[in-house]
This record gives sequence, structure tokens and C-alpha cells, in this order.
Amino acid sequence: MAEEAKFKCLRCMSEFCLPYTPGVTEERTCPNCSSNSVRRIKGDKK
Ligand SMILES: [Zn+2]
Repeated sequence: MAEEAKFKCLRCMSEFCLPYTPGVTEERTCPNCSSNSVRRIKGDKK
């Protein structure tokens, strides 16, 4: 079952949510600049 995870683009620094399946490494592309320099951000619990 896919979850929503937060990602950040290292190129344009925008943050966005994408479906994420634990254990599966997929290549991510930034929806803004089409860069593949996208890192997953761990959700910070307040
Ligand atoms: Zn970007």
C-alpha cells in the first residue's frame, strides 16, 4: 500500500508530496523543474 511522503527538490528547493511505497526505490522527478535531484524528507512530528 502506497503512502504519501514528502520530497524536496535540491535544485529548485520546492517541497511536494508524492506516493511512496516503503522498500521500493523509485526515481523521482521534480514536478516544477523536472530535475531528478529529489530527496525524501522524513516527516517531522510536532
Ligand atoms: Zn525542482
